[in-house]
Amino acid sequence: MHINFIERKGHVLTKPTLKCLNQVAAINPTLGCIHQCAYCYARGYSIYPGDGKVLVYGNMPEKLKRELSTRRKLPAYVFFSPTCDVLQPIPQVLKVTYELMEVLLEYGIGINLLTKGRIPAKFLQLFSQYKKLVHVQIGITTLNRDIQKQIESYAATPQARLLNIKRLCTIGIVPEVKLDPLIPGVTDTESNLTALFTALQGFGVDSTGINYLFLRPQIKKNLCKALVNTPFLSKILGHYQNGKSMNLLAEKSRVIALDVHYRKQAYEHISQWAKDFGIDAYVCGCKNPDITEEPLCGMNWGKHFESSSSQKRIF
Ligand code: SF4
Repeated sequence: MHINFIERKGHVLTKPTLKCLNQVAAINPTLGCIHQCAYCYARGYSIYPGDGKVLVYGNMPEKLKRELSTRRKLPAYVFFSPTCDVLQPIPQVLKVTYELMEVLLEYGIGINLLTKGRIPAKFLQLFSQYKKLVHVQIGITTLNRDIQKQIESYAATPQARLLNIKRLCTIGIVPEVKLDPLIPGVTDTESNLTALFTALQGFGVDSTGINYLFLRPQIKKNLCKALVNTPFLSKILGHYQNGKSMNLLAEKSRVIALDVHYRKQAYEHISQWAKDFGIDAYVCGCKNPDITEEPLCGMNWGKHFESSSSQKRIF
């Protein structure tokens, strides 16, 4: 693993290309992510430094302070982070992430955080001081450690992620759970998901975003490499043989999504299973524009902060 500091030259707060995020400000404190999930779309980006390399923008916290002090309008909230996991277990990353979050929260700016890592105690202490400004999303699709290890080799274990949820609930922050991406025939089964929903219900989680894996050439290559010796691979690729080429409400490049009929039916089943546990499972609108009119995720986050902030600010 190579970790190096680099200097951020452009703005710290950026406008993501993902449609669901394009009304919010985002921060990417690193290039690269140690978790190396097989399905990660960021591993196919031209700025990805390569597996085993993480480049950390060490000057970001100071630059962010300067940027905020000169802005006429402040963002209502900031999303961490479209192309990396800011809680990947690297001390240099955690330090920069903590400082960035501290600066934003002290300014009264909300933070949205999506992670598949373990949330350190120091962050929980910070979040507990700014509960109304912190929205956390935990990515998890299975409690089965063997399956999780195959697809997200270096991310936190399912048990560690449940512990995140438990600790967040203890400090009064009920996280949103993201079942994204579900892998057909592997993590979308009734037994897998009801086991997960049972655990989530126990913590009082009442909302989950659901979305299926989509394929791009680089994602397919990484999946084949990660799952080569498993019975899953041929099953997964079989599901995409009748896949549909489409544009996400996201970027310019096209992806191969599962057949519309499969997705529609499966989302219905999953929503029903979730409902039995008092959980509202909503389909991610930006990644399924052909079958849902669900609001985009960004709008859901926006509502969270509108209701917790009396100040009206825009990016
Ligand atoms: S945690 Fe997120 S950014 Fe990191 S490898 Fe996995 S999908 Fe990619």
